[in-house]
Amino acid sequence: MRLVLVGPPGAGKGTQAMRLKEKYKIPQLSTGDMLRAAVEAGTPAGIAAKAILDKGGLVPDETVVGIIGERIAAPDAKAGFILDGFPRTVRQAEALEKILAAKNMDLDAVIELKVDNEALLGRIAKRASETLASGGTVRVDDNPEAFKIRLSAYHAQTAPVAAYYAQRGLLKTVDGMAPVDAVTSDIEQRLDG
Ligand code: ADP
Repeated sequence: MRLVLVGPPGAGKGTQAMRLKEKYKIPQLSTGDMLRAAVEAGTPAGIAAKAILDKGGLVPDETVVGIIGERIAAPDAKAGFILDGFPRTVRQAEALEKILAAKNMDLDAVIELKVDNEALLGRIAKRASETLASGGTVRVDDNPEAFKIRLSAYHAQTAPVAAYYAQRGLLKTVDGMAPVDAVTSDIEQRLDG
């Protein structure tokens, strides 16, 4: 199973990806997690990406395409994967198509999580306060200013990715406002049905 999860920041992609990965026994490939790990490790890609990440902008397509190309080539991704946070631009979607075609692979489905803008801001604030309460470190980009930039990047650059996949007959849109379990069963039904 090769899946893509698309949705605005705070839509619940990570939460749903964790569940799908258990069910289908495939890895979750989150470009956000990979970039944060690169920043943490101080790699050249991480050093270059840090300021953009902190502000909430999108890092260059070449950077993420390079990272994801390497990750998809790893042995554990042979049987499938869930892409979480990639592709975020149509250029990234086109690059992904080429990477997969070179391996004689294609995507099975693209799941779009739809959530109202107003609900998203509340979710991000909740995530930040829960993280603080549990003694964790809040993501640098989980603040209202960076969130606004992330949301507008989503509408300007990532929403066209959903249209791109709709044209190819791959897009399955689910209501991301529903309770977490209901979203999961909706996704599973759409994939298995
Ligand atoms: P969220 O979906 O909550 O915004 P992510 O963890 O997916 O969080 O991404 C965090 C940040 O990482 C983004 O705001 C962006 O700066 C960077 N990023 C992640 N994936 C991509 C991508 N495919 N293209 C460009 N930038 C990316």
